[in-house]
Amino acid sequence: MSATAPVNRILRSSIVDGPGNRAVVFLQGCNFNCVYCHNPETIALCRACGECVAACPAGALSRDGGGIQWRQERCVRCDACLKLCPHTSSPRVRRLSPEEVMAEIEPSIPFIRGITVSGGECTLYPEFLRRLGELARERPLSFFLDSNGSYAFSEDPALLAQTDKVMLDVKADPDDPQEYRRVTGNDGARLSARLDFLAGAGKLWEIRTVVSPGLFDAAAVVDKLCRRIAGADPPVQYKLIRYRPIGVRPEAAAALLQPGEDMMNALERICAGHGVKAVVV
Ligand code: SF4
Ligand code: SF4
Repeated sequence: MSATAPVNRILRSSIVDGPGNRAVVFLQGCNFNCVYCHNPETIALCRACGECVAACPAGALSRDGGGIQWRQERCVRCDACLKLCPHTSSPRVRRLSPEEVMAEIEPSIPFIRGITVSGGECTLYPEFLRRLGELARERPLSFFLDSNGSYAFSEDPALLAQTDKVMLDVKADPDDPQEYRRVTGNDGARLSARLDFLAGAGKLWEIRTVVSPGLFDAAAVVDKLCRRIAGADPPVQYKLIRYRPIGVRPEAAAALLQPGEDMMNALERICAGHGVKAVVV
């Protein structure tokens, strides 16, 4: 039996999670706690406190031994449980093996180019990823990971061998641990070295940075990172992501600003100045 992982959601088709049309698997659990997290319900594993059970209008939740049972067929996706959970978690999580995930993706295989695993932070489940990557590449489908850079890929050649590319989130200045911790709850230790390693191994697809005016000096961060990836072979692109107050916690929505076109255009010009392709979303 392969290692299982807590799966929050499987999207059978997406055009924004790597090249081409892709299936995306979102795993539950993250070792960061970003102030602007757009899926805060994916951060923690369910503690089975039971607070959401009575709030479910569809009777989709029940206590089950020491845990919570979610009956997917009854769920009407009202999100009441997510809004109520005091632990940035979700009861709508299934423990699935890589084989079970592939079985759910199977009907989409003729229409997709690959699989991307996101989160949460997918590298919390390396054994699951190794096997899912192996199954994907047998099809053959490309296998991409969306990671916050906390995982030492250099020490896991087996996972690297099954992974086509990594999309690496850089959420502030990676050389400023205090700033990084303020934005993410984690000091981002060794992120620069991991970025260099992935780029050098030809495994880095893109750097992704969420931009919100005043949160950190985005121009300085983009400039610094472009210097690192300029001239990488194969090339690495830079995805500049506008912060939007969608799905975020209320305190983030109240505190964070959305960037204007001028700011995004200026960041795009910094990338262009280093010969780095920018993708603005
Ligand atoms: S989203 Fe949550 S509260 Fe709403 S029906 Fe589904 S399980 Fe119940
Ligand atoms: S999802 Fe949240 S509220 Fe529901 S049982 Fe788990 S920890 Fe408690």
